[in-house]
Amino acid sequence: MRIHLSVARDSRKQSIDGQPHAPPVGTKPQRRGTIRGVSNQRFLIIGGGIVGLATAYRLGERFPGASITVLEKESQVGQHQTGHNSGVLHCGLYYKPGSVKARLAVTGIRQMVEFCRENGVAHEICGKLVVAADESEVPRLRDLEQRGAANGLEGLRWLGREAMIEIEPHVGGVAALRVPQEGIVDYPAVCAAMVKRLEERGARVAVGARVLRLRRGSGEWIAETPAGEFTGSFIVNCAGLHSDRVSQLAGERRSVRILPFRGEYYKIRPERQHLVRNLIYPVPDPAFPFLGVHFTRLIHGGVEAGPNAVLALAREGYRKTDFRPADLFDVLSYGGFWRFLRRYPSMAWYELRRSFSRELFCRALQRLVPEIRPADLTTGGSGVRAQAITPEGELVQDFQLIARPDALHVLNAPSPAATASLAIGAEIAANVAAAL
Ligand SMILES: Cc1cc2nc3c(=O)[nH]c(=O)nc-3n(C[C@H](O)[C@H](O)[C@H](O)COP(=O)(O)OP(=O)(O)OC[C@H]3O[C@@H](n4cnc5c(N)ncnc54)[C@H](O)[C@@H]3O)c2cc1C
Repeated sequence: MRIHLSVARDSRKQSIDGQPHAPPVGTKPQRRGTIRGVSNQRFLIIGGGIVGLATAYRLGERFPGASITVLEKESQVGQHQTGHNSGVLHCGLYYKPGSVKARLAVTGIRQMVEFCRENGVAHEICGKLVVAADESEVPRLRDLEQRGAANGLEGLRWLGREAMIEIEPHVGGVAALRVPQEGIVDYPAVCAAMVKRLEERGARVAVGARVLRLRRGSGEWIAETPAGEFTGSFIVNCAGLHSDRVSQLAGERRSVRILPFRGEYYKIRPERQHLVRNLIYPVPDPAFPFLGVHFTRLIHGGVEAGPNAVLALAREGYRKTDFRPADLFDVLSYGGFWRFLRRYPSMAWYELRRSFSRELFCRALQRLVPEIRPADLTTGGSGVRAQAITPEGELVQDFQLIARPDALHVLNAPSPAATASLAIGAEIAANVAAAL
């Protein structure tokens, strides 16, 4: 799990695990590229999901006066991963201590909650239970407890059966870990608030601006889009499901490839929603970056169950039938995909079967809440995760950025990147300051 920072021009190559590689956020901005404290940088951010918007927001703070433009291909921001997720505020329980993900998740949730408070965005810190369904899962839950403590989480509480039921009366299992800091939020409203704050500061969010080509012309980048050409001195690629392709447009070799994993949800019928008070999660398999199907209370009412993790046949394939030949070719022509399948055939097969079987999906949920029945579930929405995979077939677990002197590519920003987006943005801004 690592963040890669390779700086091309001076051939400095750094690879770090959790070590800050740039001055800490909040330190004085670099003088280069500034005129009397006002930056003359021109930033183009490709992708108007939560990571792109938060990056624009933090760049604006770090480089006052800089020109900042976010280029988004859809007619509105936040239409892909950001608008199709579980709406959970994750606090850093799961991630390897010392990893970039752990560090940014822990600081990110604080920054996100503060942003929500300041901007009147609906959110609630309701806490979560991670449940060991049987004795075999208890050691892994103990490991999680230790991880959480190592990551600096406070107030984690180990619960036996009686204590679990006081918090979630219908929960099954033999033990649980209570994580008090976690909560639920309206991420589309976070994006709307970010756009408002950006525009107040003079930044521009251009929609309908899919970046089709990137070229260099006299010391600047030129981005060709259907909404016209945009120029900038520094690009930040936050293109989510297309981030590997956008990096290629900027002349990078695709060192990892994005695999689209669809996550499907069911809704719990209103008359059965009393079975879940807040957030009930399973103990995840540490080999995968996915957390396993869980119950989530939504910030505006209702309870969802999911998401599973099934390979999609299109990068924006929200329905089972969605299919895009170019996307499928990208998957099938990649050695890393076949190595992944060879490594985890039973996981891939199980997820595929569960995608087509409500009973199988429900059986996974019954490990958490035994009273839930297939008839309690109605089809919900879905989201597609942009998951980077290495040529060796490993799913990249940590956030991954590639920094160049005039570009930075976010190549892997899976969950909890929505929660951690402001911390990721601050990290990117610090990297940019170091690069300029
Ligand atoms: C099912 C699911 C559940 C999740 N649950 C949670 C959760 O509960 N909590 C949490 O913290 N995280 C969760 N995540 C993860 C989180 O949603 C993502 O990590 C986060 O939204 C990533 O944001 P992003 O801006 O990188 O990507 P995106 O939101 O996908 O944004 C990328 C943007 O780039 C645009 N784009 C792409 N190509 C181009 C181009 N060529 N030109 C211009 N624009 C382009 C796209 O249109 C898109 O708007 C979940 C993800 C999924 C899929």
